[in-house]
Amino acid sequence: MNMITNHLPTAELQKLDAAHHMHPFTDSTGLASKGARVITRGQGIWLTDSEGHRILDGMAGLWCVNIGYGRKELAQVAAKQMEELSYYNTFFQTTHVPAIALAAKLAELAPGDLNHVFFAGSGSEANDTNIRLVRRYWQVKGKPEKRVIIGRWNGYHGSTMGGGSLGGMKPIHSHGGMIDGVAHIGQPYWWAEGGEMSEDDFGLMRARELEAKIEELGVDNVAAFIGEPIQGAGGVIVPPKTYWPEIQRICDKYGILLIADEVITGFGRTGNWFGSQTFGIKPHIMTIAKGLSSGYAPIGGSIVCDDVAAVVAEGGEFFHGYTYSGHPVAAAVALENLRIIQEEGVVEHVRDVAHPYLAERWHALADHPLVGETKLVGLMGSLILTPDKARRAKFAGEEGEVGFRCRERCFANDLIMRAVGERMIIAPPLVITPAEIDILVERAKKSLDECHAGLKADGLMVAKKD
Ligand SMILES: *Cc1c(COP(=O)(O)O)cnc(C)c1O
Repeated sequence: MNMITNHLPTAELQKLDAAHHMHPFTDSTGLASKGARVITRGQGIWLTDSEGHRILDGMAGLWCVNIGYGRKELAQVAAKQMEELSYYNTFFQTTHVPAIALAAKLAELAPGDLNHVFFAGSGSEANDTNIRLVRRYWQVKGKPEKRVIIGRWNGYHGSTMGGGSLGGMKPIHSHGGMIDGVAHIGQPYWWAEGGEMSEDDFGLMRARELEAKIEELGVDNVAAFIGEPIQGAGGVIVPPKTYWPEIQRICDKYGILLIADEVITGFGRTGNWFGSQTFGIKPHIMTIAKGLSSGYAPIGGSIVCDDVAAVVAEGGEFFHGYTYSGHPVAAAVALENLRIIQEEGVVEHVRDVAHPYLAERWHALADHPLVGETKLVGLMGSLILTPDKARRAKFAGEEGEVGFRCRERCFANDLIMRAVGERMIIAPPLVITPAEIDILVERAKKSLDECHAGLKADGLMVAKKD
């Protein structure tokens, strides 16, 4: 067998990497000077790098390794499926057992009448599918001018042209532009944008921007609203509790379709199977990826309600699909992942064990002199770094600088935490144990202490003037 083995020293690997590998979301000049961290193994919640460090993965890869690394069952299922039927497509009235079984399983797990699955290879692709699905839906219903999809500033829905446009990240828009027929409203981020309002009032105000936007565009032009139950890449921004009920009311009132992007919040992350259940959202379409396969194979999809599926079917052939829609190996792996989540009670573990234990320790970090608010829903958490928590102040220096320094300390302490501006975020594998949570929080605390000491030494614990 021609296995890929690592016979090169780290510096050599880094040199080849910088010379030939174009990395996503990476500053390539920094990459060339410092070299990328080379990850070689994963087991449970732990990673090993080429220098032998054992790193606690507080981000579950990119929020996806829900059942942890290195589960042999998934490898075995993949090998068996490759031997039996390595590939066949699902175009032109053909199908295969893994795609059938996975679609049926997802229909069983998803709430309400979300009973139909369109498969994609990733979350971005699935959201591109959603753009075409909702526009096609209104076209078949005789309202082809209903095309605009409303998303949120600082939302994230992937980085293809479609997904990147639905998302509200200006740096992404600035590289390659946006597609037409997309609009954005403000995000429900109280800490940074809530001013003197209460969290609840602010949540209502931000939700009502949807109503104002629909009125401005004309309801006859609006197809759908899309949102993540909790913004992930935007910084684990947990909306005020008033927000989603108001969004739901507005979508219902105007009869527009509601898309819940569950790519992160699906498959146990929030302590329920889906974030929509945690927040009481009734979407017409759910976007899924990441935890669907725990990252063992690339797969995503759209889970679609009866009405949308029926209308699109009524229109005849839908001219859309990916070569790898419902790929048999990825589907078999996803199915095995769902079996493990279900049979091992992973969602219950998050709800009854890991969340309550982490919540107690995570919220205690709010006493740290560098930390403002702490948030945790299920196993999705954030804390904000601030020089003055009473005023919810920003740092005087460049935005993101302090977050970057804190992340560097985490790296040095073998903990992967991500920084989004000055928000430090975690989303560990869902199978994390209380003993491992202790290690995670101890390393986080140590990193915060070191970051704080460094900021004081460099005279950077200074609030921005408002
Ligand atoms: C990661 C993510 C996506 C994009 O998924 P990819 O598999 O990276 O294309 C879409 N939506 C949300 C909410 C995500 O977190």
